[in-house]
Amino acid sequence: MEGIKRREHAEIFVLGKRVDDVTAHPFLKPSVKSFKATFDAAFEEDTRGLARAYSPFVGEEVNRFVHIHQGPEDLVAKVKLLRKLSHKTGTCFQRCVGWDALNTLYVISGKIAEREGRKEYLNRFIEYLKYVQRNDLALAGAMTDVKGVRTLRPSEQPNRDAYVHVVEEKAGGIVVRGAKANITGVAVVDEVVVMPTRAMTERDAEYAVSFAIPLDTPGVKVVVGRQINDGRRLEGGEIDGLPYMFNHEGLLILEDVFVPWERVFLYKEWRWAAQFVEVFSNYHRQGYAGCKSGLGDVIIGTAHGLARQLGIADKPHVQEKLTEMVFLNEAIYSAGLAASWEARRLLKNGGWWVDPMYANVTKHLVARFPYEVAKLSHDIAGGLLGTAPSEADLKNPELRPLLEKYLQGVPEFTAEERLRLLRLLENTSLSVAYLVESVHGAGSPQAQRISIQRVYDFQRAEAIARRLAGLKAEASGDARAEPRRPAEAEK
Ligand code: SF4
Repeated sequence: MEGIKRREHAEIFVLGKRVDDVTAHPFLKPSVKSFKATFDAAFEEDTRGLARAYSPFVGEEVNRFVHIHQGPEDLVAKVKLLRKLSHKTGTCFQRCVGWDALNTLYVISGKIAEREGRKEYLNRFIEYLKYVQRNDLALAGAMTDVKGVRTLRPSEQPNRDAYVHVVEEKAGGIVVRGAKANITGVAVVDEVVVMPTRAMTERDAEYAVSFAIPLDTPGVKVVVGRQINDGRRLEGGEIDGLPYMFNHEGLLILEDVFVPWERVFLYKEWRWAAQFVEVFSNYHRQGYAGCKSGLGDVIIGTAHGLARQLGIADKPHVQEKLTEMVFLNEAIYSAGLAASWEARRLLKNGGWWVDPMYANVTKHLVARFPYEVAKLSHDIAGGLLGTAPSEADLKNPELRPLLEKYLQGVPEFTAEERLRLLRLLENTSLSVAYLVESVHGAGSPQAQRISIQRVYDFQRAEAIARRLAGLKAEASGDARAEPRRPAEAEK
């Protein structure tokens, strides 16, 4: 927190006004606290084991959020850590995008070194990684460009800046311009790692760049986006603003920003852009298994608590709904664990990556199931979820005794306890972090469907069927049980 307070040039805007201290601003303070939870996790008893890992790059233990995965166990630990952190924050804690960006840069720069013998990107990246690990930096990952006309490639856009691109090459580095949209946690990080957002052709070369910059680099602006109920953060209080940790997203604008060569990790490498996006998005799709199932636990627990307050927790139809919520939630988690345990190496020496089929299945489930879980929780909670009086009403001495009398269900619980759970349910089950982000974060659903279609081997599946039907079919010779084709990054 002290580090981000000391930033000199960071230009952050909320509701049209410049913010000097993000740690104190009511819109961003909950987001800072949520970020902080990722640091605290390395010191708290119940998360310490998961949140620390040994880094061979610096020869010491580091926070897992800056760790390069060294095997399937590390990817499993990632999913478990994210589930635990959702329990502590009740929201998106924002630091995973930068973490996935680090792992992606390691894989891609490593592949360029292995395949083409060009080691400059890998060497630069390793130096940057050591700096990030030793200083335990909070990074944002910025992938999604504003994209302009969706049917046109970057080089074909009427607005040349619709995708982040290089505008000038200097002796000491490059100058970049453009904007990245929906960037999680971007106003409260130390640095941003910028990545290409799509496959490119040779004509798009100036758009195929990746680099890292401190957020307070001159020319960088952040416009923080609005969220449902965000005005409540300005009210203060202890109930209506629940949970006090929150996330934010923002528009990152880069107006002729200078990036020194030592921070450039991909320069006009259009051939590598598609793999870059594939590797990154699959890492982040796997991560959703942890954070969204953790939020699911919060919602299931809240629904269970509200059912007890109403005296309906043991009713068969309520039990059935709660069980369905658990099934949907654990399905998301199971797919993420499968993606982790089935991890594979993309480099001769490491570069551990998730199973691309299960990572995409995970995210595709996440794009659907949280809406089901949310609906079931609303069904159990009752209509008061959308109509409950405010915290200010409860604190009004004239109204309090009346509300205590009329909002109470089972006598062992107070009206305030009911109001607190209702607000928690509202703030979690109707949040950007649980709904909109679940659909569009790490790629919209169609992106997963394309990946699923690509890596499933339909020919092999048909050959299996033809043999059973007594028809001629070529033997595949593949020892794997799953009909699979390699992802781009595995070729
Ligand atoms: Fe992390 Fe989940 Fe937020 Fe992504 S959506 S940054 S995985 S908490």
